[in-house]
Parts: sequence; C-alpha cells; structure tokens
Amino acid sequence: MQRLKNKIAVVTGGSSGIGLAIAERFSSEGARIISLDLNEAADKPHIHFIKTDVSSSENVNRSFAQIAAEYDKVDVLINNAGISWSIPMIDITDEQWAQMLAIHLNGSFYCARAASRLMIDTQTPGAIINMSSVSGIVGSDGRAAYGAAKGGIITLTRVMAVELAQHRITVNSIAPGPILTPLIKNLWEDVKEYPRDVPLKRFGMPEEIAHAALFLSSDEARFITGIVLPVDGGFSITGKVNR
Ligand code: NAD
Repeated sequence: MQRLKNKIAVVTGGSSGIGLAIAERFSSEGARIISLDLNEAADKPHIHFIKTDVSSSENVNRSFAQIAAEYDKVDVLINNAGISWSIPMIDITDEQWAQMLAIHLNGSFYCARAASRLMIDTQTPGAIINMSSVSGIVGSDGRAAYGAAKGGIITLTRVMAVELAQHRITVNSIAPGPILTPLIKNLWEDVKEYPRDVPLKRFGMPEEIAHAALFLSSDEARFITGIVLPVDGGFSITGKVNR
C-alpha cells in the first residue's frame, strides 16, 4: 500500500532505532523522508539527511528553511530524536538536567513550531507525532529528567492539538515501552532481565512503533488528535515500572 503517497515526512533522530524504522516504513508507503539528526545513517540514499541538533532553535529553523525551499511543504513531522540515561534525582547535575530537557522538550517544541508554521503557510493539513515514553506517564527510578521531559511532551501535545486544530493539523503522542534499539541496549546491560515486568514478556521492536506512527500519520487518523498512545506490551498499566 502507498498510504503516504506524495507526502513529505520529517523524522528527527531518523538515523537510528525507532526513527530509522519509521523512516524506512514511511518510505515504503510512498513518503519522501527528511531525517534531522546529528549523524547520518549509512547506505540510506532514499533518506534526505540534514545535519541538525534539535536542541538548537537556530539550527532547527535553518533546517526547516532548507526544507521549505526544497520541498515547498511538510505533511508529517515525527519528533523522535532523543537520549536516555537513568540517574537518581539527587545525583543529576545541572548540565545533565538541562541537556535532557533541551533535546527532548525544547527540541520537540522547536521542530513542531517550525513545522506547523510551514503547514499553516502552505495550508497543508498536517500530522505531528511526538515520541514520549511510558516514563512520561508513570514514575520510575532514575527517570526524573527523562520522565519530566517525556511528561512535558504529552502536555505539549495536548496544547498544540487544541491550538492547531483550526489549521487542520493533528498532534498526537506515542509512549513506547522498552523497545530494542541502541538506546535501550546502552541503558540495560542485561537486556534479558527487563521484559519480565512487561505483561507480553518481550521487548517491542522499532517496527512496532513505526506501525503506530504510520496509522497516526495517515488519512485514516484525521479525526484523532491530542492522544497519547502507549505501545508498550502492557507495561504502563502494571504499576511495576521500577527501573
Ligand atoms: P536511538 O539512540 O537508537 O536513536 C536516537 C536518535 O536520535 C539517534 O540517531 C541520535 O543521533 C539522535 N539524536 C540524539 N540527540 C540528538 C540531537 N540533539 N539532535 C538530533 N538528533 C539527535 O534511540 P531510540 O531508542 O530509537 O529512541 C528514539 C526515541 O524514542 C527517543 O525519543 C526515546 O526517548 C524514545 N523512546 C525509546 C524507548 C526505547 O525503549 N528504545 C522507549 C521509550 C521512548
């Protein structure tokens, strides 16, 4: 199927893990993909890479100016770039706190602002998907900065959904549970341990987040806005999120 035929999709963090899976899936559904990332994925000529640090509004605005000049419009923005670590709240430094919020929360805001301005200017009924996390829904050890950023992304999603509805722009959020990507392999040395707390008893795969992102970006979801969709094997409903 070509569910995103003729669509222009910007994916932040599109060079690895979940972002790369979304870029590949969207490309197979007919979209043209622009990845805003610090690093370029190897051997992906169908993904237009624009080196961007999403935590810099200047850098983000420059990249979107380039996109506007080259593509005329943006139909879909996937705000996905991110980092992750677990540090007890009392040990987090100012720099660590600022960096976590800058990449996730500021970055999502800067990209959404630039993309929605372009969607409004070009009268494009767009879709914005913000990557939150189960850590933005529940309290889990070591996740003060990450969880605060991801919780902020859920609230940002709801506010943008209300404000941008008049422009026919939908804004939704996905909250992945543990997904097998380079990010989670760095976080848990023993990745076999972790899925015990997941009712479905396994990690999710990046492609499973791509399925959800595809649905929320497609014309089938035009009446859905402001939601947070957990894709987590039931993790967020167990109350056992303790790592
Ligand atoms: P990943 O490390 O595989 O990919 C993250 C990508 O973001 C990388 O390509 C990296 O270069 C890019 N990036 C990092 N900082 C950036 C910056 N300042 N500017 C531009 N790009 C930057 O990670 P992933 O597991 O695919 O995670 C993707 C998103 O999903 C993140 O927002 C993460 O918080 C979220 N998430 C992941 C999981 C999981 O279990 N993997 C669970 C919940 C939420």
